Amino acid sequence: MYWQEKYETMSREELSQLQYQRLKAMVERLYNSVPFYQQRFKEKGIVPEDIKSLEDIKHIPFTTKQDLRDTYPFGMFAVPQDDVVRLHGSSGTTGKPIVVGYTKKDIDTWGNLLARCFTMAGATKSDVVQNAYGYGLFTGGMGVHYGAETLGATVVPMSGGNTAKQLMLMQDFGATVLTCTPTYALYMAEEAHAGGVDWDKVKLKVGIFGAEPWSEAMRKQLEERWNITALDIYGLSEVLGPGVACECLQKQGMHIMEDHFIAEIIDPDTGEPLPYGQKGELVFTSLTKEAFPVLRYRTKDISVLYPEQCACGRTHVRMERVTGRTDDMLIIRGVNVFPSQVESILLEFGETEPHYLLVVDRKGSMDDLEIWVEVSANMFSDKVRGLEDLEKRLKSRILSVLGISAKIKLVEPKSIPRSEGKAKRIIDKRV
Ligand SMILES: [Zn+2]
Repeated sequence: MYWQEKYETMSREELSQLQYQRLKAMVERLYNSVPFYQQRFKEKGIVPEDIKSLEDIKHIPFTTKQDLRDTYPFGMFAVPQDDVVRLHGSSGTTGKPIVVGYTKKDIDTWGNLLARCFTMAGATKSDVVQNAYGYGLFTGGMGVHYGAETLGATVVPMSGGNTAKQLMLMQDFGATVLTCTPTYALYMAEEAHAGGVDWDKVKLKVGIFGAEPWSEAMRKQLEERWNITALDIYGLSEVLGPGVACECLQKQGMHIMEDHFIAEIIDPDTGEPLPYGQKGELVFTSLTKEAFPVLRYRTKDISVLYPEQCACGRTHVRMERVTGRTDDMLIIRGVNVFPSQVESILLEFGETEPHYLLVVDRKGSMDDLEIWVEVSANMFSDKVRGLEDLEKRLKSRILSVLGISAKIKLVEPKSIPRSEGKAKRIIDKRV
């Protein structure tokens, strides 16, 4: 089932042509309406006419998060303020947010792209979508909300938090689709299994989880605990919000909405484009956005692109789940460590809860990694020797996978702070 079959299944040749036409028009428009882009083009000594093929995209300068900060709040907008009907922002770690804007047409496009995502997940207008992504400046809640409405489904705009009420209404309203961060879905499952839920009344069949990187092992946990199909969705406010890419039921990576975005993988150090199949930093170019398009936006997300046609019939390339970010990557004693690697190890053990914290410190000149792991309730009440043994096995597995030794600290169930949004996995005391 497709939402916009014509675009989702168009041949690669047709798609390339469409992308090129749209890219050319976009470059011309941005050059003439956004001083930032004109200046960048001049610094690089190029003009829009130099973009003579899709490959020429590599000559276009990158846009970074810093550029968006420097032009705060509306310096990157490409339409008159009158045409902007919505503003969102992505939370910066400090200070002012990145501001993004949408025209009426942008909102309409966004709704359709999310409706595609829902359709990929097997949802139809008959479904009841419990939307537990946060509403507000964050694009997650509203983006998914409009998408579910575009599909014609019934939306329950829960937003994040208030878990007891989430579980009550999930049963009473018969939600069939759950949308939230994977971390929060897991937390809700934990609460549901702790009691108070009549499992006969839980009608969920699919979850669309995103806004943070998660692992295949985490998928298994979510699918088992909720008895659903768990799918990954990708997006970022700077490019659109959720719905830039989404997994279909084949679970073989997320289809990128290539009629609206050009995706590239680059070497994060040199900026050179990398061929399909190679791991690197994801870069997106808007092809259709009106209010806030970006040219070659560097996401800092690490992924891989697969061009082979999917069994679902969609022709758009798929991106591997994000395995980390170029900037949240930890370097410990010279070794690159992504929290998701640790998560996979913990989940494969099954004797721990999938809640953990990486604490990095510097002892003298040596980096020190401590991994706090929540042990499952029955394990914790078990003999001390069992815990010691688990600690030893975890330590040795971490060493063999990451190539560094870490101290394992087993902690009581529910002692690591829970998150109703993005999980905090790292405490780096070195900086
Ligand atoms: Zn597919």
